[in-house]
Amino acid sequence: MRCLYCDKVINKLSFKSLLIKEDLLCVECRMKLPLKRRTIKVKEMEVETFYDYDGMFKSLLLQYKECLDEALKSVFLYEITDYINLRYFNYKICYIPSSTKKLEYRGFEHLKLMFEEVKLKPLEGLRMKEELCQEGMDLKNRMKMMSNFVYDGKQENKVLLVDDVLTSGSTLLGAYRSLYSNCKRIKVLSVAYKNNLI
Ligand SMILES: [Zn+2]
Repeated sequence: MRCLYCDKVINKLSFKSLLIKEDLLCVECRMKLPLKRRTIKVKEMEVETFYDYDGMFKSLLLQYKECLDEALKSVFLYEITDYINLRYFNYKICYIPSSTKKLEYRGFEHLKLMFEEVKLKPLEGLRMKEELCQEGMDLKNRMKMMSNFVYDGKQENKVLLVDDVLTSGSTLLGAYRSLYSNCKRIKVLSVAYKNNLI
């Protein structure tokens, strides 16, 4: 097996690989993705994040989302899947929807695939009013994004709202607010955090 990022041969005969699910990255590449669990406050919402959106994480995510390298889907949550499954085992998972344009371009639902190993039931009913793209939004569009979600699903007890990168937080906050009146408890998770101060 070869590392999906640097193509180095990974020795499959390690003791560890017999016990746990194998990493698709080599040890050196994995070390360039240090886990950094943090809670970021965005207005009334708290977001749990795990990686910095820079260097290695950024280049892997771009390769996955923009160069359509679907094989990378399981590298992002490799270290945190068990944690999510345990901590949120009775939550329903709600993904930030992608725009139709992005979906057509990619041909795969990047967030759902990224969270494939997370065994939580999906929550349906969250959608965007208008097809806005998350990436590269200016202030005006970020404000628009905050009121761009509607939830027309059932009443729920526990919901885990997820996204891949937290930047300004306007997308997650918009989704969070639209879920709020129908869900008793909402937890928010973003795999990575793009610290604008860096
Ligand atoms: Zn590697």
